[in-house]
Parts: sequence; structure tokens; C-alpha cells
Amino acid sequence: MSRTKFAITPGFEIGGTLFKPEQLAVLGSIVGEDARIELTTFKQLYVELEEDQLEEVKQKLRETGLEIHPAGFFTKSLIACNFCRGAEDAGLDVAKALGDAIAGYEVPSPLKIGYAGCALGTSEPLLKDIGVVKMKDKYDIYVGGEGKSLKATVGVLFMSGLAAEQLIPVILQLIKLFQQNGRKKEKFSKFIERMTMEKLREAVS
Ligand code: SF4
Repeated sequence: MSRTKFAITPGFEIGGTLFKPEQLAVLGSIVGEDARIELTTFKQLYVELEEDQLEEVKQKLRETGLEIHPAGFFTKSLIACNFCRGAEDAGLDVAKALGDAIAGYEVPSPLKIGYAGCALGTSEPLLKDIGVVKMKDKYDIYVGGEGKSLKATVGVLFMSGLAAEQLIPVILQLIKLFQQNGRKKEKFSKFIERMTMEKLREAVS
């Protein structure tokens, strides 16, 4: 029997990415003894189990309120901060709309998108492929952050002063450009270097 892997997350709220005890209880009780549950660096749990259990397990997890996402070469669910400044100041509704819009697209290499509700950036948005930082009532987008390897780099400012309604279209455009023009297994930071920031800015504006 072949095994398969998928990702789960409880989403985010004020206080961060919080699992409820009953969600973890259901998870532990239905996946079976041989399942592997891995904590990733991007606020998802990866669950690996026998393929014949897949649909039933996913359905039961959804019923607890957990989100199910694909594992591997896809856009990850939004890696958000803890919204310590409160829902309005930190932009919780905008972050939730962004999270719903961007997760689960097939891309040339895994794409991490981060969000911070203020310039303190405690969710490390500048180390993500795409990072959003709320600055008062506007939003800045950084691209090309890369936290891995000895050549780790911080993201570079891509666009600034965006209104909330401009944010999702710009990021969806970036994802689409990566889908259409990225090479197989190419990291997003390399893709930006190859395409150049200027051409990407032109393409999304
Ligand atoms: S990024 Fe700002 S609003 Fe979000 S948890 Fe950190 S300090 Fe609070």
C-alpha cells in the first residue's frame, strides 16, 4: 500500500496559530499507529499515512475546523504573526483574506508567504519568499527572502504603500508569474534574480 502526505493547519487568529485540544485529540485518534506527524518550519503539520485512509481522515479533520493543504511544491498557507496589536491594528481580516487566496497553488518550488501586522515583523516576513508588512493602514511587499543555507538573504522591498484591496491581486500575480515562468525546482529568489525586479514590477502593475 502506498503512503501519502498532506498538510494541516488550524489557520491563525489573535494569539497566533493555535490548535484546539480536540483537534489534536481527533488527529491522534484517527491517523493510525503507523502515521508520521511532522512539525514543519512553516507552521503546518505534515501527516503521512496509508493512501486508503486519506479521504476519511481528511474529512474528519475538516469537521474539527482544521484546514487541509497539499504538501510539496505548492504555495504554503500564510505564515502570519500573532496579531498582538489587535485585529484592527494588525490587519487580521486582511491577513485572513490573503491566507484564503494564496494557499495551495502548484508552483515550481515550495513558496512561503509571510505576514506581519507591524514593522517589528516578529513572524520574520523578510525571510520568506514573499513577505507582507502592515505599515499603519498600508502594506509593503518584500520578495526573495531565503532563510536556508549559508547564503541566507533577506527579502528586498518590492512595492510599498499598497491599499488592502491591492494586496491580494499583486500577490496572486506574482504566484501566476512564478507558475508560468519559473523553472522546475527553481527557488523563488533565483526566479526574481533571473526575471529582475523591474520586469516583475511592470508585470504586476
Ligand atoms: S508583527 Fe507586530 S503585530 Fe504582529 S505579533 Fe509581531 S509585534 Fe505584534
